Amino acid sequence: MPNHIGDSWSACMSPLAESVTRVRRGVRVSGTVQGVGFRPAICRFATRLSLTGFVRNDEEGVDIEIEGGVEAIARFVSELRGVAPRIARIEAVESTPLPPVGEQEFRIVESARSGARVHASIPADLAPCDECLAELCDETDRRYHYPFINCTLCGPRFTIVRDVPYDRQATTMAPFTLCAACRREYDDPADRRFHAEPNACPDCGPQLAFVGAGLRPAVGEAALARAVRLLGRGRIVAIKGAGGFLLAVDATDAGAVSRLRARKRRPDKPLAVMARTLAELQHIVHLDAVERAELKSPARPIVLARARQDGPIAVNVAPGLGELGVFLPSTPLQHLLFDGGPRFLVMTSGNLSEEPIARDNADAHQRLAGVADAFLIHDRDIHARADDSVVRVVSGRARVLRRSRGFVPDTVALPTVGPCVLAAGGELKSAVCLTRGKQAMLSQHIGDLDNADAFAFFEETVARLGALAGRTPEVVAHDLHSDYRATRWARASGLPCIAVQHHHAHIASCLVENGRAGPVLGVAFDGTGMGLDGTLWGGEILIADLGSFHRVAHLRSLPLLGGEAAVRAPWRIGAAALLDAGEPLDLFGDVAPERRRALEQLWARPHLSPRATGAGRWFDAVAALCGLRHEISYDGQAAIELEAAAAVGGEHPPYDFGLSSEGDAPLAIDLRPAVRAIAADLHAKVGVPVVAARFHRTLARAIAVACSAAREVGAPSTVALSGGCFQNRLLSELATAELVARGFDVLSHARIPCNDGGLALGQAAVALHRLANGFGEGRPPCA
Ligand SMILES: [Zn+2]
Ligand SMILES: [Zn+2]
Repeated sequence: MPNHIGDSWSACMSPLAESVTRVRRGVRVSGTVQGVGFRPAICRFATRLSLTGFVRNDEEGVDIEIEGGVEAIARFVSELRGVAPRIARIEAVESTPLPPVGEQEFRIVESARSGARVHASIPADLAPCDECLAELCDETDRRYHYPFINCTLCGPRFTIVRDVPYDRQATTMAPFTLCAACRREYDDPADRRFHAEPNACPDCGPQLAFVGAGLRPAVGEAALARAVRLLGRGRIVAIKGAGGFLLAVDATDAGAVSRLRARKRRPDKPLAVMARTLAELQHIVHLDAVERAELKSPARPIVLARARQDGPIAVNVAPGLGELGVFLPSTPLQHLLFDGGPRFLVMTSGNLSEEPIARDNADAHQRLAGVADAFLIHDRDIHARADDSVVRVVSGRARVLRRSRGFVPDTVALPTVGPCVLAAGGELKSAVCLTRGKQAMLSQHIGDLDNADAFAFFEETVARLGALAGRTPEVVAHDLHSDYRATRWARASGLPCIAVQHHHAHIASCLVENGRAGPVLGVAFDGTGMGLDGTLWGGEILIADLGSFHRVAHLRSLPLLGGEAAVRAPWRIGAAALLDAGEPLDLFGDVAPERRRALEQLWARPHLSPRATGAGRWFDAVAALCGLRHEISYDGQAAIELEAAAAVGGEHPPYDFGLSSEGDAPLAIDLRPAVRAIAADLHAKVGVPVVAARFHRTLARAIAVACSAAREVGAPSTVALSGGCFQNRLLSELATAELVARGFDVLSHARIPCNDGGLALGQAAVALHRLANGFGEGRPPCA
């Protein structure tokens, strides 16, 4: 007799209806479903429905087979999304009928490695959950004060995963053998730690150690106690975290903070402050609901918030700024530092200046020996380095400015499929991007590629992204700037290259993040990017889609007197703006007369100085005119300080500006009238905050007026705002308000940085679009 099991007609006819109505289905779930407690949740759900079968991870996600009654199976498939853990991200569920096999139970089985192409996504690191924190503080718990406590809903992921599918053997936890107690939890479907891959306890997991030159070493709890005591005495302790080393120091001790700054060679750049709870943070910053939610999110980013003027934080933590970067502990170890230690800790990347964060114990000892007084380390390897992420709330929405721990490797959906594209990104705030089918994987923040260590981190990140994605790049996308290290690397890769103009990439990245294809009016305001004509752009209004763009307007250019070195010396740009507007240099009375004369001589020889339209340069110019900053020690410093001044400047009208065009040339936004008015205001002793506020409003108005002019001759009425200048909350909010008031639809960034940290995503999208649609007319050639 033929096998009719699973066939409903024969089931109805059979006297053994109960046994023969058993059906089986295969269910395939893709997305971020590994390392998030998905299999245990499935196991519990299937068991509750009296289904048998199995669940396992494989290269594509989670593979499930279930067997049982028709109704129970149908319920399982329809309710599957609802029982998935909150941190899982399901992209697709496919189910297919299978012949029943008749097993007796539901099991989690070993990961399948078929050698198939990888589609699974690994989640980002997750801050400790409330239950783990409760155990951490419970003296009767076997993990009391154990800094590596975690469960299926929390703990390290991206930073410890070497390979997919995600299971313990593929992580840096592999060398630690589970003890009997941990093994019981790991094997028990009813337990919170059922298949928690980094599961560990003091008996079987990683251990802390304390070392320092001339200091007695210690391990375990004693190591923690020694580190906490040193922090309380104002000493600098390097602490090994999940994604790298952090340097910690008491944030209320100005002497300790200045020692850290001197040793780290970071004179001015603001430092972030960690406290144990939100209530503690509210003693030092004002927080709104969005900021509080962001601080408490599993990503636990640094949030830039308005500083309280009467708070206990040392003034040299964020000098000259009204904002403070604050965050909550993202690991159990960081929680423990507040047990008996300072209430507020400066926590900054364990590196010198802009180098990448130190990774292993030997690397840290070598690089941080001159910075840290002691080291609190452990014996679990860091596989992928990840800095702390930075978020700022703009127009009521959280915007990621530095995308790293907690956000990486979340994917972004692409509109086009194609070959695997690796996008090399820019030069500063580097991040790379790899495509896999319709997904883009944007790497963590790598940093500025201007030193050998950073470049090694860049290459390491490219390799790890490929391993995690299970793909080998077939095409490389890169910036037009031939001097960028990433561009040189791309051109030397031996793969076909696609060059993408810098500001086009910014706008494309904003389009992709918003799920749009364009065309839009793209406002790309940043420091500097190579233009199609070989000059430096950066105050650009483009009509752009994912494939191409053309320039409709730009800010008036300024000469970089003395070449690109002027970028580090805003007073040179301020002087150029004055000379450009026909004003004398008397606002720079504090600059030595011979230096001013030298600059005037440079001005008289325009061929010696490249001209740049960068909005960032205009911020530099005005900050210098205001006397806020003549030379900078970190990228964007003058603009950040000008924004801080403007934030307390109140509401004022914009300065005058002009719009001019010649023939087919793009509109030029002429800021010379504003420069003359600013000089007059400053001579008349108008306060710097007022001048700064009026300048911000001038740029916002200029953006809106130029966009309106473009729309009148046929440009779209959707505007995408991108480029590093939109990290500026005031500019962003004012420009958005001006555009909305003129009936524009405004797109902006949220999860992808508007600065060069998001550039690679745009490069990848443009490259894929061109590969799918051809290059067309007037587009930059393949390099
Ligand atoms: Zn937990
Ligand atoms: Zn154990």
